[in-house]
Amino acid sequence: MTITGLNHIDGNWVPAASGAVFERRNPADETDLIGTFPDSDAIDVRNAVDALDKAAPEWAATPPERRAAILEAAADHLAAHSAELVDELIREEGKTRAEASMEVSRTPMNLRFYAGEALRATGATFPGPGSTTVYTVREPIGIVGAITPWNFPLNIPSRKLGPALAAGSTVLFKPSEITPLMGQRLVEALLAGGLPAGAIALVQGDGKAGAAVSGDERIAAVTFTGSTEVGRAIHRSVGPDRRVQLEMGGKNPVVVLDDADLDAAAALIVKGAFGLSGQACTGTSRVVAVDAIHDELLEKVAERARALRVGPGSGAAVDVGPLASRGQLDKFLEYVTIGTDEGARLVCGGVRCEDDALRGGFFVRPTVFADTVPGMRLLTDEIFGPVLAFQRAGSFDEALALANDTAFGLSASVVTRSLSAAQRFIAGSRTGLVKVNQPTTGMAMNAPFGGYKQSSTQTFKEQAGPTLMQFYQSEKTVYLSPDA
Ligand code: NAD
Repeated sequence: MTITGLNHIDGNWVPAASGAVFERRNPADETDLIGTFPDSDAIDVRNAVDALDKAAPEWAATPPERRAAILEAAADHLAAHSAELVDELIREEGKTRAEASMEVSRTPMNLRFYAGEALRATGATFPGPGSTTVYTVREPIGIVGAITPWNFPLNIPSRKLGPALAAGSTVLFKPSEITPLMGQRLVEALLAGGLPAGAIALVQGDGKAGAAVSGDERIAAVTFTGSTEVGRAIHRSVGPDRRVQLEMGGKNPVVVLDDADLDAAAALIVKGAFGLSGQACTGTSRVVAVDAIHDELLEKVAERARALRVGPGSGAAVDVGPLASRGQLDKFLEYVTIGTDEGARLVCGGVRCEDDALRGGFFVRPTVFADTVPGMRLLTDEIFGPVLAFQRAGSFDEALALANDTAFGLSASVVTRSLSAAQRFIAGSRTGLVKVNQPTTGMAMNAPFGGYKQSSTQTFKEQAGPTLMQFYQSEKTVYLSPDA
């Protein structure tokens, strides 16, 4: 089935004002046309912000228990349609069935979590001078712009739209141009749950629509997940007077010490590196192994990588789906060449799949490089594909230093049986997430999530957890005296 996607502006489903559209095709074959979607520009964004401006007071005045009920009902809608959503997510992004099922089940959980947060928002009281009562109240921040990537096209937006709407803010949602259908489905679920049509706008399109969102001065807060390069452009465009939250790239290491169970280490490395075809922000892209176990671990990881079954996500016996786009494929091939030219040793993979059944899609073999040296682009650049680079360390201290030798700081893991080594790693790792005996991937929806260094904005880094709601709210301090 081919879909004619539309924007949602001022309560109506409409094409782009210019009439322009873009196409999205299935990355598993590049021929299956999923649909056409509005190729929006600054005019559509302006129309959307005009409408949100009008609707904002009514949504802000909606009681929190009503906002919570709407988010719960939207979650029910998503859960009731999960089978279709899983199929559509596989078709649009290329996830395997297991990966798509996980995402589709998580999204309603996020909406339910933030439904609860609508009722938990609290201020504080302070002993005032004399008979004055001093207290704080939390108010909706205003219009929120949410700009999102394609790799979790339901889950990431649900962690932005959920808290923003729970807080009483209205939202302009600009999904990735790679996964527009999932963006539309999420908005449909919120409307089916009873969200007043004016409280949300959906504007489809690429970076020109995104830039118009971050550039509109009436948008009080911009929440973004995507690449560091685009995040920095958004930061400049938002400027100092409005709020911005950026979740960006990673170059996440697993450090393996000489006391580790190497089979367990290899299993969690392969899961973190090649799950989602390596297209996760917390994906494992480096292994730092101490000398004593480096070669044996490399062999075990390569053996598992070679055994992974690559194929369309719709297939039953598939571990790794296609890359999401031609751009992703080109980047993968470019970095295989860069790695080889730099002198790293290609241990396995490094090629596009050429079997007849896979030739039409963006399928590549899980790739492992070894014999790297610090400074290689294989070790510094976020490739965002199934490419893993091994680094050798002489000691724990060198391993920790190599792990930290990156401009990014999202996630890092250590594999060890030593509690004291784990504690030293936790203390020394310059990352927002530190894991012990776990893949670098995976997060709890109720705990803080954000990166150090170039992985997040440091003014407001949390993308989950107890303080997240504050991004979508302003705080007002009230001084109340009984008499003048
Ligand atoms: P991207 O930066 O190319 O695009 C992200 C979004 O920004 C898209 O909606 C895009 O249309 C929009 N955009 C592009 N140019 C823009 C501009 N100039 N102004 C405003 N918006 C613009 O990222 P992507 O390829 O969609 O996603 C992959 C990236 O996302 C990787 O770098 C990955 O690490 C990162 N990511 C990070 C996290 C995290 O939580 N840290 C999670 C998932 C993905």
